[in-house]
Amino acid sequence: MDKKIIYMDHAATTPVRPEVLEEMLPYFTEKFGNPSSIYSISSENKNAIAKARETIAGTIHTTPENIYFTAGGSESDNWALKAAAEAYASKGKHIITTKIEHHALLHTCEYLEQKGFEVTYLDVDENGLVDPARLESAIRPDTILISIMFANNEIGTIEPVAEIGRIAREHGVLFHTDAVQAYTQVPIDVEEMKIDMLSASGHKINGPKGVGFLYIRKGVKIRSFVHGGAQERRRRAGTENVPGIIGLAAAARIATERMSERTAAERKIRDHLIGRIESEIPYAKLNGDRTKRLPNNVNFSFSFIEGESMLIMLDGKGICASSGSACTSGSLDPSHVLLAIGLPHEIAHGSLRLTIGDGTTMEEADYVVDQLKEVVEWLRSMSPLYEDFVKKEQSR
Ligand SMILES: *Cc1c(COP(=O)(O)O)cnc(C)c1O
Repeated sequence: MDKKIIYMDHAATTPVRPEVLEEMLPYFTEKFGNPSSIYSISSENKNAIAKARETIAGTIHTTPENIYFTAGGSESDNWALKAAAEAYASKGKHIITTKIEHHALLHTCEYLEQKGFEVTYLDVDENGLVDPARLESAIRPDTILISIMFANNEIGTIEPVAEIGRIAREHGVLFHTDAVQAYTQVPIDVEEMKIDMLSASGHKINGPKGVGFLYIRKGVKIRSFVHGGAQERRRRAGTENVPGIIGLAAAARIATERMSERTAAERKIRDHLIGRIESEIPYAKLNGDRTKRLPNNVNFSFSFIEGESMLIMLDGKGICASSGSACTSGSLDPSHVLLAIGLPHEIAHGSLRLTIGDGTTMEEADYVVDQLKEVVEWLRSMSPLYEDFVKKEQSR
């Protein structure tokens, strides 16, 4: 029998909207032409891609020639960093980023360090915020790039992007932002925010997987990332992922059109979850900034508990969530983000991320908290640490 699934992991991925799928489908079959060919079924596809590029450009307030389609957020991050590093190496070899970036960015930085670049990893405060003053003092004459995420995927903290952009521009340093989580959750204006490069991904916004884009401001020197044909203004060769691009643009259009009502509904559920957890589950700590926070993100640490056990038990109740510990990825270390905001290892290990999406209901949120209360209580009842703690409390 099918068990009802409550999906609270929209920061990991989202389902494709049926309307988006419907727009994509013809491009797998009758509209299969290669956009580079000259017969009419192909030039129709070329036009469809041009229209998709225009749609995407409109969502971040830029012009279509600054949008480059990629195979997703990871590729966009890799491209921005590697190509900018290469193109600007004669000016300097210093890059500034933060300790809380996604691995697509951090591992690219490590790669660049092996190639002779120097990377400064900025600390963040206890809520995950970058201090603009600290950023400014880290800029050196040989700094070529600042890459700071728009919003964090684990704790939902939204960084002071406009201020970072202003500082970067004043110092003549390029500014890239990984906006994979923020895109269509927060209004983005790349001109006003002085963003030179921005990464986004389809599958985080109810679009297809394996497609995304990189915005590169006109005038930024960037060499080709994929060599071959002349696609994407000769910077990223390869026959276009036409259905993916159509789906990405459809998802972006729908998510942007409905941004204010959708995020208002998400915020209401988010705050309900936070409020109930804080008042009904003892020794629970909210991670991330309370106000500068993505509308769909809830992240808590529960003392005396293993995140993995929590996830397995929630899964048994049909609830999909995510933990702040990286055990699932084969490492015993807790998340680098939770450590960077100063959580001790044992607290970071007991973390839970719930990310809501379009369609998440208040009833689902209540069910999740009801189940979570039971899970936390049960796991604590098994914990010798908790038993010791309670004994100590009682003997006070
Ligand atoms: C998901 C994610 C990525 C990677 O995007 P993919 O499309 O899965 O490659 C990069 N950065 C952040 C912040 C993300 O959340």
